[in-house]
Amino acid sequence: MNTLINTLRDTLGAAHVLTHEDPTTDLSAWEQDWRKRSHGRALAVVRPGNTAEVAAVVRTCAAAGTSIVPQGGNTGLVVGSVPDDSGTQVVLSLTRLNAVRVIDTANLTMTVEAGCILQSLQETAEKAGFLFPLSLAAEGSCTLGGNLATNAGGTQVVRYGNTRDLCLGLEVVTAQGEVWHGLSGLRKDNTGYDLRNLFIGSEGTLGVITAATMKLYPLPAAQLTAWAAVPSLEAAVALLGLAHQHLGAGLTGFEVMGQFALSLVDRHFKQLRVPLWDTAPYCVLLENSDSESEAHARAQVERLLEVALEQGVVTDAVVAESLGQAHQLWHIRESIPLAQSEEGLNIKHDISIPVSSVPAFCAETDALLQREIPGVRLVNFGHLGDGNLHYNVQAPATGVYAGDPQAFLLEQEDRVNTLVFDAVARHHGSISAEHGVGSLKAAKLPHYKDAVALGLMRVIKQALDPQKTLNPGRVLP
Ligand SMILES: Cc1cc2nc3c(=O)[nH]c(=O)nc-3n(C[C@H](O)[C@H](O)[C@H](O)COP(=O)(O)OP(=O)(O)OC[C@H]3O[C@@H](n4cnc5c(N)ncnc54)[C@H](O)[C@@H]3O)c2cc1C
Repeated sequence: MNTLINTLRDTLGAAHVLTHEDPTTDLSAWEQDWRKRSHGRALAVVRPGNTAEVAAVVRTCAAAGTSIVPQGGNTGLVVGSVPDDSGTQVVLSLTRLNAVRVIDTANLTMTVEAGCILQSLQETAEKAGFLFPLSLAAEGSCTLGGNLATNAGGTQVVRYGNTRDLCLGLEVVTAQGEVWHGLSGLRKDNTGYDLRNLFIGSEGTLGVITAATMKLYPLPAAQLTAWAAVPSLEAAVALLGLAHQHLGAGLTGFEVMGQFALSLVDRHFKQLRVPLWDTAPYCVLLENSDSESEAHARAQVERLLEVALEQGVVTDAVVAESLGQAHQLWHIRESIPLAQSEEGLNIKHDISIPVSSVPAFCAETDALLQREIPGVRLVNFGHLGDGNLHYNVQAPATGVYAGDPQAFLLEQEDRVNTLVFDAVARHHGSISAEHGVGSLKAAKLPHYKDAVALGLMRVIKQALDPQKTLNPGRVLP
């Protein structure tokens, strides 16, 4: 192993190869996942500064038979970016690859490196007069490489699609340490298999993404946010239909939040002043991005809410008066996961269902869970515009699990997961909408994924990484 570490130090410089040899070096930031579900032990954390160095690291590790765990911001939620506890894996951190290579304003693209922090890319685009629409609560820490590797979703998918839909080209280091120069800014290229889309969403198991060419959009003239109380999930789905009809491509966000989820924000972050949460079982947050003017955006949203109130699919609503107020409303939505953590550990699900089936799925699964674990609390919220729910299950407030969420997780997690995932399957949904598979859901995949699809995935992994150098055990068990 010393030979491997020495070769890596020769390649990258000693400062960029961190190991446990030096007892004062703390590697926890790279070894511990964001949700603190797993704390592994790395042989080394390496921090290359450019694509050639990434390729050299991969070649060196492959030659030594050492596996690599690619890592960006380490904000992933499915334990995919941290090493196992064997002490034999090398964590390949991409954060030093953070250059903006080219902004091509006529082509509406920017070519940037994989370690760029998402928020800094949004700011870079804005300074150039454009919108980079990928947006998620982890944007201050997650990297574009991680976003691509997980095909991240977020709050603007209803209009702009997942990260996949924003990407036109990739630069990738293969499992053999070769570099695929695929940074085309082409919107049309039918010259064979779509390698770009193979690497996107592969969670570091097929290649290491080092740079990407991403789409830019014109900045909207106005963004108007409204918060509406709805009497049921059926009404929320009906409101979504009306919003598509009235706002067209202007509809850039459509989030649903259950009453219990909002009550947690109200309890733990009183200063955020959650509107309307105690008057309805669900609230909806919707955003209209308009290319004309604020007045036009407001008139459209007011007309939409008027019709929705007439039809009874909205019972009350507030429209943000300023961008500041809009940010406050979005902040409430983004605070739900934190409020939930304040309340205690819970069993998380990131699922998708066809939008039309969301009400039936929730009615059925809510009832099943209540029957199995009386008093169980559901923190249900998510990107309803994409049929994506964060359907999280919190221990009952009273009874054996009161004050002991750890015991709830230990004793009930498997049972609850099976119950929820089986219901997802009955409604033709997916057990991972946007967070990926990682280690956390790898064992579940054979049960819920089409057998032929899974077989093809294994063939692809074998063809691209026969030595299993890249992120072994992730995605495919
Ligand atoms: C508060 C919070 C909110 C979140 N909200 C959302 C949300 O709304 N939507 C959503 O989709 N996700 C969300 N996430 C999950 C997470 O932020 C995303 O999955 C994000 O895309 C991960 O980026 P990262 O740079 O942190 O990747 P990491 O966590 O470092 O890695 C994630 C996976 O990608 C691989 N990987 C990382 N970089 C590369 C690379 N350059 N090449 C190849 N493989 C690589 C890793 O091996 C790992 O398998 C949220 C997370 C948090 C903590």
